[in-house]
Amino acid sequence: MPEPDTGPDAAYATNRDGGVNVPDFFGPGMRLYLDRMTDWERLLRLRQGEDADVEAEVGAYRTILETAASLAESFQAEAREHWADEAVLTPDGGATSPPHIRRAYDKLAEAGLVSLGVSEQYGGYGLPAILAGIYLEMISRADPSLMMVVGLQAGAANDIEKYGNEEVKQKWLPRFTSGEVEGCMDLTEPQAGSDLGAITTRATELPDGSVRVDGQKIFISNGGCEVHLVLARDHATFDESKGTTNGLSLLLVPRHRDDGASNGVRVARLERKLGIHGSATCEVVFEGAIGVRLGEKGKGFRAMLDLMNNARLGVASQALGLCDAALWDAITYARQRQQFGRPVAEQPLVLTMLAKMAVNTEAVRALLYRTYGLVDSVAAGEAALRRGGLSDSDAVQLQKDIERDHTRVRLLTPLCKYFATEICSDLTRDAMQVFGGVGFTMDADVGKLHADSLIMTIYEGTSEIQASFALREMGKGALAVVFGEVRSELAEMAGDAARAELAERVREVTLEVEKTLQVLYSDMNYALLRAKLMAEMVIDVIAATELLKQAGVDPSRVDIAQAFVRRRMLDVEHKARRIVVNAEGRFARDFRLLESIAPSS
Ligand SMILES: Cc1cc2nc3c(=O)[nH]c(=O)nc-3n(C[C@H](O)[C@H](O)[C@H](O)COP(=O)(O)OP(=O)(O)OC[C@H]3O[C@@H](n4cnc5c(N)ncnc54)[C@H](O)[C@@H]3O)c2cc1C
Repeated sequence: MPEPDTGPDAAYATNRDGGVNVPDFFGPGMRLYLDRMTDWERLLRLRQGEDADVEAEVGAYRTILETAASLAESFQAEAREHWADEAVLTPDGGATSPPHIRRAYDKLAEAGLVSLGVSEQYGGYGLPAILAGIYLEMISRADPSLMMVVGLQAGAANDIEKYGNEEVKQKWLPRFTSGEVEGCMDLTEPQAGSDLGAITTRATELPDGSVRVDGQKIFISNGGCEVHLVLARDHATFDESKGTTNGLSLLLVPRHRDDGASNGVRVARLERKLGIHGSATCEVVFEGAIGVRLGEKGKGFRAMLDLMNNARLGVASQALGLCDAALWDAITYARQRQQFGRPVAEQPLVLTMLAKMAVNTEAVRALLYRTYGLVDSVAAGEAALRRGGLSDSDAVQLQKDIERDHTRVRLLTPLCKYFATEICSDLTRDAMQVFGGVGFTMDADVGKLHADSLIMTIYEGTSEIQASFALREMGKGALAVVFGEVRSELAEMAGDAARAELAERVREVTLEVEKTLQVLYSDMNYALLRAKLMAEMVIDVIAATELLKQAGVDPSRVDIAQAFVRRRMLDVEHKARRIVVNAEGRFARDFRLLESIAPSS
C-alpha cells in the first residue's frame, strides 16, 4: 500500500476540506452573552419603557446575528482567495474596493445588515453595541477589509445620528441603513497623525450657514465613499487655536452636491500596503468642498472622540474576529499535521501554544464584551432619562449610574483597543509558527491573517496612544471606580468552591496594582514610560474577573479562567515589581543610552 501523503500541502488541503469541527461564526462565546450574561430585562426596559417585549427583541437579535453569521461564513473562502486584490481609483475621483468585497457588501445591504446601530425611525435596528460589535467580529473573521467598509459606515451613521440636526438625519440616515451610501472618517494629515491638534484643514463658514472645506487628508480608509466626516480647523479662530484641539469642527462633507455635481472632494492617490489590501486607503483632497457642521462650532474634537471611541471598540472587534480566524486555522492544521507519528497538536510545545491562543482570545472577548455592556448601559440610561416619567430620586440615581459607567467606559475603551490588537498580532504570528514552513507560503492563509493584523495596533490611535490615554483616565480616578466594581464581583465568588481561590488571588493583585499606580505619579516621564505595563496589569485584572464571572454562569469555562488567572496574575506581580524597583533614573538612563549610540545632531 502506498504511504499516505502527509506533507504540509496535503495536511493543508485536508484543512481546507474541513476535516475538523470548527465552530460556526456565531460561536459559543458570543451566544453566552446573548443568552445568559446580559441583563436584557433591565437594558430593554430602560431603553424602551415598561412595555418592552424583551423576549421578542432578543429573538429578533438572535435572528439578525444568525443571518449575519451565515453570510459572513459564506464570504470567507473568496476573501482569502482574493486577499491580494487591491482597491482601485474610479474615474469620478473616488475609489472602490475590489469586486469580491463589493459583492459581499451588496449581499449584506440586501439582507438589511448594514448600519445596524441606527434607530428604527431611520431604517436601522437600533442594535445594542455589544451585538453590533459581535456582527463586526463575524465579518472580520471572514474578511478584515470588508469589516473596514461596514465598520466605518456604521460608525459614521452613529455619529450623524448623535450630532446631526433632524434635517441632516432625515437626509442621510435612511441612505446609510439601505446601504446606498457609505462613510469614512477624515482626521489624519501629513503633519497630524497621533497629534490631532496639528490639523490645518480649514473650515470657512459661509453666509448661508454651510461650511467650505479646504485641505488634504491622508490614510483615509474607505476614502472613496460618498460621506466624509471631516475634522477641520475653523477659519475664524485658525491662528489662535493652531496646535490645539480647540477650534476644530466636525463636518459632514459629501462627495457630490444635491444636483449630482462634484463637491470638490477627490481621492488623489491610494496607498499600497502590507495587508488589508481590499480596503481603500486614500489621500483625499478637499478643494472648496461644501459641508454641514455636526455638533457645535469649535467643539468638533469632542464629537469626533465619540466616533473614534466607537471605532476603537470596532477595531478591537476586528482584531477579535481575526484572532478567531487564526486560532481555528491553527487548531485545524495542528490536529491533522502528523510528525513523529502523531498530530503536532499533541506535541506539548504546540499544545501549550494553542491553549494560550485560545485563552487569550477568550480574554479579549471577556474584556471587550464587558465594555460593550457598559456602553449599552449608558445608552439605555440616557434613553430612560430622555423619555422622562421617573421620580426625582430615581432620576438622580440613574444619572449617577450613567456617570459611573461613563467613567468605566473611558478607561476600558483604550484598554480594549490596546489588548485586542496586541494579542491579535502576537496570536496570528503564533498561528504561523504552528503551520511550520507552509505558514510562510501563500499556499496557507495564515500569513495573510498576520499581515492583516499588523495595522490594527496603529490605526484609530496607536497602542502607545491607547496606553497613555488609559493612564490619564487612571490618574483622574477611573481605576478606583473600575476596581471597586471588580472587587465586589470577586467577593461574590467567595462561596463558590470552583472559583473562590482564584477570585481571592485576583483580589489581592488589585491592591498591588493600585499601589503601583501611586509610585508612578511621582514622576510623569516615568509614568508615561511605564504606561503600557500599567495598562497590561489593569487589563489582566479586569479580563480575569470577567472570565471568572463567565465560569460562574457556564462551569465548562472554569479551565479557561483558571489558565488565565494562574499565568497572568504572576505576570502582573512581576510587572509591578519592575515598575517599583527600576524607577530610579530610568528615563534619564534610556535617554543617555540612545544618545551614546546615536548622538542627535
Ligand atoms: C491602513 C491605514 C488606515 C488608516 N485609516 C485612517 C482613517 O480611516 N482615518 C484617519 O483619519 N486616519 C487613518 N489612518 C491613520 C492612522 O490613524 C495614523 O497612522 C495613526 O494614528 C498614527 O499616526 P502617524 O502614522 O502619523 O504616526 P505618528 O503619530 O507619527 O507616530 C509615530 C510613532 O510615535 C508614537 N507616538 C506618537 N505620539 C506619541 C505620544 N504622545 N506618546 C507615545 N507615543 C507616541 C506612535 O505610537 C508611533 O509609534 C490610517 C492609517 C493606515 C496606515
